[in-house]
Amino acid sequence: MTEFDLQQTKQDVLDYCLRSMEYGLNFNTQGNISVRLPQPDRFLITPTDLEYDRMDADDMVVVDGDGAVVDGRHEPSSEVTVHLAAYRRRPDVNAIVHTEPVFANVFGVLGEPILGALVNMVIYTKGDVPIMPFALSNRTEFGDAMCDVMGTLNAVVWANHGLLTVGPDLRTAFKTSVAVESAAKVLLHARSVTSSPIVLDYASLGITSAL
Ligand SMILES: [Zn+2]
Repeated sequence: MTEFDLQQTKQDVLDYCLRSMEYGLNFNTQGNISVRLPQPDRFLITPTDLEYDRMDADDMVVVDGDGAVVDGRHEPSSEVTVHLAAYRRRPDVNAIVHTEPVFANVFGVLGEPILGALVNMVIYTKGDVPIMPFALSNRTEFGDAMCDVMGTLNAVVWANHGLLTVGPDLRTAFKTSVAVESAAKVLLHARSVTSSPIVLDYASLGITSAL
């Protein structure tokens, strides 16, 4: 068991931020990533209004469960209260990735869940990805309402805004975002050919291993 290394965790968050740009999941200063730290009531989150490719690891912000800055030279992401609501509601969640990818956003605009087009997605999300009706996302009430929509799933689309995925670790939460966007893209292409594409139902797949 390696000892916890805060600096390495900051670098890991930055690496996934940059990867989210590389994969086309975010543009400008969109999106944010956070992780639950091993210390009680401490969370690491990306700063507000700073491009990922202009950040370094020391730009990350440590906050407490109320969103107050404990360590860092910036204000936390404006959606910090949404992240904190998810950590409160879901003790199984240790990392959260919010992105604004095009294809997941198409389903948000349509108000239609992203069905299980690809097995890779449903394994990570544990089901169809629901759509949360539009609301401004910079308040705790939004986070609580989002948790109601997401339930025990690992992904939710915020209508007219973006995608949020959660996971037991950062790598898994990020892979879930990529998997959702891939499935959304495939589903949209499939629906341009047929109105009834073949999709998977997570519950009937009999997947019992925890991911
Ligand atoms: Zn956003």
